Amino acid sequence: MIGPGRLEWLKHDLTNRGLTAWILSAVLFGFYMVLYFTDWLNPVAAALGLGHKWTLYGLLYTLAITLGGVYVIRKYRHNRYQVIRTVVVIVVQVMLAFSVPLLLKFFHQPEYYFSYLWPLKFEYLTPPVVFHMPLPFILYSFFGALVMAPLLAVFFGKRWYCSWVCGCGGLANTAGDPFRHLSSKSMASWRFEKIAIHTVLVVAVVLTALLFVSWGAGKQNPELARWSYQFQSAYGLIVGAVLSGIVGVGVYPIGGTRVWCRYFCPMAAMLGLVQKVGRYRITVKRNMCISCGLCSKYCEMGIDVRSYAQTNTSFTRASCVGCGICAEVCPRGVLRLENVTRRDPQELVQIEVAA
Ligand code: SF4
Ligand code: SF4
Repeated sequence: MIGPGRLEWLKHDLTNRGLTAWILSAVLFGFYMVLYFTDWLNPVAAALGLGHKWTLYGLLYTLAITLGGVYVIRKYRHNRYQVIRTVVVIVVQVMLAFSVPLLLKFFHQPEYYFSYLWPLKFEYLTPPVVFHMPLPFILYSFFGALVMAPLLAVFFGKRWYCSWVCGCGGLANTAGDPFRHLSSKSMASWRFEKIAIHTVLVVAVVLTALLFVSWGAGKQNPELARWSYQFQSAYGLIVGAVLSGIVGVGVYPIGGTRVWCRYFCPMAAMLGLVQKVGRYRITVKRNMCISCGLCSKYCEMGIDVRSYAQTNTSFTRASCVGCGICAEVCPRGVLRLENVTRRDPQELVQIEVAA
């Protein structure tokens, strides 16, 4: 029997980089290695009537978000923003990221995930998709990535996607919630974040352009086609498998839940650039902060929110995903997530300095 004392110890050990946290991290790493590099899960999926390992993975992922979401809704039940946001995250995952692709497959249509857009779902703006998918999917791929996503980010910040729609953020903010305080707050990680995330975005844009060029060159340039194909495979392996899956989820128990979103996601990078000039910001109530540091501690993106609150500075940071937990944990109600209608020039200067 595990008594309450043992349970408390386990909870503390698991969420504070104790031995059990390292063991869980190793298990997650192992799971993703098996998932990406072997077919061992196919027989398990077949035995469960799910056909293929990726359907099994989709089901596990959806269960993790749903059960974790129920836990988060109960935990923050007094906070309307958190409850509505979490319900939306669960519904999007269950419908758009799991049921709709399955139904499409069932009706012999291409498997398409409406909750994922280029450059996160990189292949949705590459020639094989653009030129071989049914027209509505092609239109959605272009419109979603190049018009809808940036436009909504102008008005609402990147939170509309990173904290309300995306499955990566969805998992982080549900099943990953107990680990959110583990994100690194150091200056070194902030510097690394700025370089790494924009590098992935540039690589994604260059690769997309290259794939269209090599497709246009057609049979006249087989060498270019072969080279772009290898480039795309390497991108898929490094960014798609290693950084988003193996590292992104594997380090939850020791490095926090937004490692992928913060350091490597090209979608977060793109929307972050838009957010810096858009309407979203965190407003600070003047002279209310008591410097307790809870906002900084629980910021999953490693932002030193307290430093802004202490200096009465409302702010917009490119990396802020608008999860709203800094406002939730603040004992003085200092912070408020807002979409302002216009900025004053002084504030834009502050954004430049901070971002
Ligand atoms: S600053 Fe606040 S809203 Fe933004 S990511 Fe951090 S905790 Fe979430
Ligand atoms: S949680 Fe509130 S009171 Fe505490 S440091 Fe942050 S803004 Fe200040």
